[in-house]
Amino acid sequence: MPEFCDVAVPVPLDMAFTYRIPPDATPVVGGRVLVPFRQQRMTGIVVELHDRQPSVTAKKVLSVLDAVPVLDEQLLRLGHWIADYYLAPLGEVFRTMLPLSAEFKRSIGYRITEDGQMALHLAGMSGSSARSRRSPEEQAAEFRVLDYVAGREPEPDGPVLVREETLRSATGVSRTLLEGMVRKKWLVREDVSAARDATRTMKVALLKSTEGKLNDNQRKLVDTLAASGGRVPVTTLQSLDVPRTTLATLIRRGLVEILDAPADFTVSRTKARPSLFEFDLNSAQQSALARARESVAARKFSGMLLHGITGSGKTAVYLAAMRSVLEAGRAAILLVPEIGLTPAVAADLHQIFGDEVAILHSALSDRERAEQWHRIKRGDARMVVGTRSAVFAPVADLALIIVDEEHDSSYKQEETPRYHARDIAVIRAKMANAVVVLGSATPSLESYFNAKKNKYALVELPDRVEQRPLPEVEIIDMRQEYQETGHEQVISRKLAVEIKDRLERKEQVMVLLNRRGYSPVVLCRTCGKKLECQNCAIALTHHKREHKMVCHYCGYTAPVPKACVHCGSEYVYFLGTGSEKLEELLHAMFPQARIARLDRDTVRGHEDFERTLNALNEGELDLLVGTQMIAKGHDIHGVTLVGVVGADVALGLPDFRAAERTFQLLTQVAGRAGRGQTPGKVVLQTYFQDHYAVQYAAHHDFIGFYEKELQFRSWMHYPPYSALANVLVRSDKLDDALRWSGTLGRWFDATRHEGVRVLGPAAAPITRLKRDYRYHFVLKSPSRERLNTTLRAMLAHATQQKIPRTQVIVDVDALWLM
Ligand SMILES: [Zn+2]
Ligand SMILES: [Zn+2]
Repeated sequence: MPEFCDVAVPVPLDMAFTYRIPPDATPVVGGRVLVPFRQQRMTGIVVELHDRQPSVTAKKVLSVLDAVPVLDEQLLRLGHWIADYYLAPLGEVFRTMLPLSAEFKRSIGYRITEDGQMALHLAGMSGSSARSRRSPEEQAAEFRVLDYVAGREPEPDGPVLVREETLRSATGVSRTLLEGMVRKKWLVREDVSAARDATRTMKVALLKSTEGKLNDNQRKLVDTLAASGGRVPVTTLQSLDVPRTTLATLIRRGLVEILDAPADFTVSRTKARPSLFEFDLNSAQQSALARARESVAARKFSGMLLHGITGSGKTAVYLAAMRSVLEAGRAAILLVPEIGLTPAVAADLHQIFGDEVAILHSALSDRERAEQWHRIKRGDARMVVGTRSAVFAPVADLALIIVDEEHDSSYKQEETPRYHARDIAVIRAKMANAVVVLGSATPSLESYFNAKKNKYALVELPDRVEQRPLPEVEIIDMRQEYQETGHEQVISRKLAVEIKDRLERKEQVMVLLNRRGYSPVVLCRTCGKKLECQNCAIALTHHKREHKMVCHYCGYTAPVPKACVHCGSEYVYFLGTGSEKLEELLHAMFPQARIARLDRDTVRGHEDFERTLNALNEGELDLLVGTQMIAKGHDIHGVTLVGVVGADVALGLPDFRAAERTFQLLTQVAGRAGRGQTPGKVVLQTYFQDHYAVQYAAHHDFIGFYEKELQFRSWMHYPPYSALANVLVRSDKLDDALRWSGTLGRWFDATRHEGVRVLGPAAAPITRLKRDYRYHFVLKSPSRERLNTTLRAMLAHATQQKIPRTQVIVDVDALWLM
């Protein structure tokens, strides 16, 4: 065995650390080890085994957690690639790739000592000891613990180790009491290796018939057990509303027993088999499917951009392609945007793939996520569907990765490592000789550009399924509306008439306003100041129903002001309209209509989202108001009119992607209009009626928009014509933020990296966020290699100048420059 191992630890430092391997331990590359780091214990990934003596004394590995790698050779290589490309610390990259944090929260266990055995023996002989200062309850609890631990079957190498969770459930004692017993040396406390209990869970089993006397609580517990076949998870009993000690009493009386059992797959309880789900594909869908199948069969890397207009049936192609992969005994990953994974989608997936599917979404607990990960790793689930991080799913023999709505910004992680899951999907497919399919109605400029350059095959689905017509779009110029009516309108006269008409015809309407809350700005008419967040340079939004002011960036809340906080004037005005106010306005205009709202204030989870969409589909709603969330819903059938109110706000922002985002949003929401053969209509209100993003969206002209936008990107040296990175310097002390950005600015000036343009330092568009003052640089280069070389040198200089690594954020391929 080599003497040392290098370990990537999840800390913001760009290096691995060397540890000495203890004689009895056998760590593996790609496996986890527990190591001391500063004053803590941390889990890291072994990246190398070697015999090179480090210059400083190496600390010892505390324990080896995996006998086999959790990251195979390919995923390790992918991790290194990400660390390199995004300039992210390797340990933090690996932490993101492995959703196994849950395995370390439950890693404490207890063994009984000889002193403990003695104490138990004495207590059994003489009852309570007279000189004890402990209360009788405490003594009884300690006795229960010792009795329980001593009663376990001993292991060959000594007394059994009982996990803390098991022990506390069985005896009903507190952690403090256990710690006290450790201090008295009755128990020893140990780290339990993670590999050992990774996928285990606790269950309670009924041991014998319980004819004897039971009190009500005990009866309740035993009945529950009996009703579920004599075995239930401990958590089920804990939710019964009986004291914790009830279970302990039953265990002591020998009526029930706690078992460690393999965890259940909690997401799907059904023993479903892949069904013979028949996909009814039109000819364009069939030829797309055939292309995908051919590529998969070739076992070589290839990319495909599936450009299908809204409603053209991309999902059916994805699922059919995945099923053919499953039939060939290989694996596939389908990535979907955050909002895409509703329970209904999950049900469909189970219908099609049976138990072969693993679903990874944000509502899973850490433990459920870990369970899913192990199912995939074991090869029990070869079809993986999930949001961003599912791109790291540990499947073997990967044949296909599909990225649905590839343009969606939720694929970009906005914290370290700032990776883009679509781009990782492409890299992973290359490493695995697999096929990657990127699908969208509004592909990102980057992907379409790559397809045009023949990096990907471009496959079009030009028609809506069943030949449904595209909606007619009418643009309303809101400046003219203002001139003609004499005041700012939220709902134009035309839109009001159209809504009324649809409601009379018993048809459904959707209105998009991409801003939540009631009023986005509170302004003092005396001193002219806005009410801003304490922590951010951001106006607070008025939320009327909750009766408070909220910062949408950091969550800070303040009471609704009666007077100006700056000058005390009573002339405070609530300006602008958010979705909450729009809903109220529509209620006032159409009192008979049944109205619901979809935004982050009304939707807390996927169930809320789905419930509202179901109500719409069932005809229980007439009008749906919401933010961009409503543009993303799948399967909306009955809406014949879509109103767009203030979807062009982004066009006023200093962001080179604003036009692209606006075009995508308008196209997506317009795609919701139309029912069966009845064409839909879109009324698009805008203050930018001549803007090309608005015009091309109104004409359903993706190619036109794409050509125009590419010209702009080319002139301005923006992606896809150059690689771009945003470097943000932040500190809660203005002085530090200024000084550090000055230091880096002078370094950029002095070093003048050829072929790299550096803009800045400049105050970031949001000058203060979550208490931090913010300055930034934007770097652009036609050469990715030069860009990254410059960034790496800059980070080295920052370290040398003692600028903390956490205060310099490098965002390669940044989506937002705010
Ligand atoms: Zn004022
Ligand atoms: Zn804030």
